[in-house]
Amino acid sequence: MCEAHDANDSIRDCRDRFDLPEHTIYLDGNSLGALPRRTPVRINELLRNEWGESLIKSWNKHDWAAFPQRVSLKLARLLGASASEVIIADSTSVNIFKLLAGALVLSDVETRRIIVSERGNFPTDLYMVEGVNAMLGGKYTLRLVEAEEVEAALDHDVAVALVTQVDYRTGRQHNMAHLNTRASQTGTHIIWDLSHSAGAIPLELAGDGAEMAVGCGYKYFNGGPGAPAFVYLAKALQSNFATPLSGWFGHQSPFAFSGTYVPAAGIERLLCGTPPVIALAALECGIDTFDGVTMDAIGKKSRALSELFMALMRQECGNYHLEFVSPAAENARGSHVSYAHEHAYAIMQALIDRGVIGDFRPPNLLRFGFAPLYTRFVDCYDAVIQLHDVMANEEWKAEKYQTRNRVT
Ligand SMILES: *Cc1c(COP(=O)(O)O)cnc(C)c1O
Repeated sequence: MCEAHDANDSIRDCRDRFDLPEHTIYLDGNSLGALPRRTPVRINELLRNEWGESLIKSWNKHDWAAFPQRVSLKLARLLGASASEVIIADSTSVNIFKLLAGALVLSDVETRRIIVSERGNFPTDLYMVEGVNAMLGGKYTLRLVEAEEVEAALDHDVAVALVTQVDYRTGRQHNMAHLNTRASQTGTHIIWDLSHSAGAIPLELAGDGAEMAVGCGYKYFNGGPGAPAFVYLAKALQSNFATPLSGWFGHQSPFAFSGTYVPAAGIERLLCGTPPVIALAALECGIDTFDGVTMDAIGKKSRALSELFMALMRQECGNYHLEFVSPAAENARGSHVSYAHEHAYAIMQALIDRGVIGDFRPPNLLRFGFAPLYTRFVDCYDAVIQLHDVMANEEWKAEKYQTRNRVT
């Protein structure tokens, strides 16, 4: 049955764009995307022919200075944004800092002292709010709510809401257009964190009225560990937007070496320092793995993979107290699903030893991500069977699976 699904999969050939290890089923592309085949070739070429051979001349000869813009152009299509509204820069955490500080400056500090976010949001998002608020003298109050309370929490006293579209634990997905409409009625700026949605589900940032967004390059975009992130700022907000990180690459003309900061006219003002050329080349290879593929096809396959995995889990692992904690409705989920179990950490370690890589998220979750470009339907089947065996044989009880590694 799964073989038939794979045979009918219109994007099955995309798997050949990746260099995946044999005998491994990788269900963690939502945390670190797989290695594209082209990346080592391209990086080697860049190192030898560009950096090694042409040295500093490469900034012009190979137009390194416009690298972020070139790669952003390719990325914009996958976000449903125009190229003038997206720029690749820094990390997701740093981009949250830039947008948050800039959005607070745009808001009326006399009447809006609340920042809204979700209690279960990814920690760095909440930490960045703390840092920005401390820097601004602690004027703001962080109001943490549950996912289903976000809409009601958007009020006229809320300056900014920092909303992660797809929850990193449960995969729960917010309706972006809906929340944006509510925010525009109350004059609240929403900063969307797209780390677990971009590259896995179709996005229409412009069409859905998004003002600001950030997301990762190393998850579904396959840019490699620590790849640069992206930041989106709607055209209408750009000319008044002040980044707190007013670095020289965001200057109107960096190479004038002028003594005063004048921001670039558009999205480029969100650049800060010298672009990470090697990392950008790797990210470009990652984004190129989407060549010729529509996000619609990606989204359809993501849902089909998740639904199949869930059905197989009910069928094969229904007796092992693995509690499904993701939303049941397919349009309410991103591209990963999670199951709670008291011994989730040990179970995942045992499963990884059997060649099935998912991950563990505290306090008690087994998480499985489906990267549509390279995950096959047979992988879902094989993964569930391996998990069944881990549970049936109680393999997770072995001593070696009980101590936690530094990175989980
Ligand atoms: C992965 C992830 C991040 C990571 O931020 P970095 O700055 O790249 O470490 C941030 N937010 C969310 C929601 C994530 O899932």
